Amino acid sequence: MATMKLQNINKVYPSGVQAVFDFNIDIKDGEFIVLVGPSGCGKSTTLRMIAGLEEISSGDLILDDKRVNDLAPKDRDISMVFQNYALYAHMTVYHNMAFSLVLRKEHSDVIHERVMWAADILGLTPYLNRKPANLSGGQRQRVAVGRSIVRNPKVFLFDEPLSNLDAKLRGVMRKELKLLHTRLGSTMIYVTHDQIEALTLADRIVVMSQGYVQQIGTPTEIYTNPANLFVANFIGTPPMNIFETKLSEAFELTIGDTLVEIKDKNIQSKLKSYLGKEIVIGIRPEHVLIDNDDQKRIGVRSIVTNYELLGASALVHFMIAKQRVIAKVDERVLFEKNDPIVFNLNLEHTYFFDKETGKRIYIEGEV
Ligand code: ADP
Repeated sequence: MATMKLQNINKVYPSGVQAVFDFNIDIKDGEFIVLVGPSGCGKSTTLRMIAGLEEISSGDLILDDKRVNDLAPKDRDISMVFQNYALYAHMTVYHNMAFSLVLRKEHSDVIHERVMWAADILGLTPYLNRKPANLSGGQRQRVAVGRSIVRNPKVFLFDEPLSNLDAKLRGVMRKELKLLHTRLGSTMIYVTHDQIEALTLADRIVVMSQGYVQQIGTPTEIYTNPANLFVANFIGTPPMNIFETKLSEAFELTIGDTLVEIKDKNIQSKLKSYLGKEIVIGIRPEHVLIDNDDQKRIGVRSIVTNYELLGASALVHFMIAKQRVIAKVDERVLFEKNDPIVFNLNLEHTYFFDKETGKRIYIEGEV
């Protein structure tokens, strides 16, 4: 059982760089939390403060109702799996996993039982007598996780544990980690720059940028209700299509050489203060409406610049008013490069953002 609270956590390095600003979260027992954001956004610093490897400049770290800021890493009952999990090359898989328990002077029966349990869960039983050099990348990764779970810690931390593996193996290991989480039911905090990992693993995602938490929510909340332009852009592949446009006094958006009138009273009421101003709109690729050219249709004309078949779906690239747009379409709808198309703005699935702040302008019923 482990709950964790981060309350107003800040980190300023001795160099003066502030890596984390006012981080707040209540983590529930057994929750799988993923911190995601681009390189340098403060994810590892946050994780290292939780582990006790970096001092917390200000704020409180609460583990099961106890403030642990000043506890040494070994006394926190937290275990971390690193990106560069250096296994001991001269030790067998068994001894690699047993090592931390040996250091803690656990009884040999206890050690044996814990190692055999971890090996069973991780599918490592046949390899216990092998040295790391004779294992595959995935097996080595499992040993690194095994070293962590034998200790039965309150909280598991993972710092980009899959980034040294190839894409296919990463996919396999993602599923294994998810399964491991289900089996152990432990509280886990996982750091990655890969938004797919975040969406597939997390119970809740924390999106970070430049030291600030941008949004905390379930994968579905983050994907369907991004709080700002940063989150909208960062989560989702291909990313959300973003247009800068102007909202006329008559509630019209300029899209390419056409005007799109906003008739919905609900949307109008939210956009009233933006009349006559620049505004940013976003549309996910799966909501971009395009048609093969048909003289009768209204909309913005364009030409397909690229067509990528992904399997069950395909990506159609084109330009609207010098802005690149990607539509995700059913693979049965066939387009070819240089095909003329017509684009229509699907207002039901359009996100609106404040151009100055990047913040989402929420339309009622959306949250
Ligand atoms: P991420 O894990 O998201 O890539 P980090 O937490 O490693 O980001 O880094 C956040 C910021 O803190 C970056 O600007 C980085 O340069 C800075 N930083 C990280 N470690 C140190 C350190 N030991 N001393 C000074 N600045 C650091």
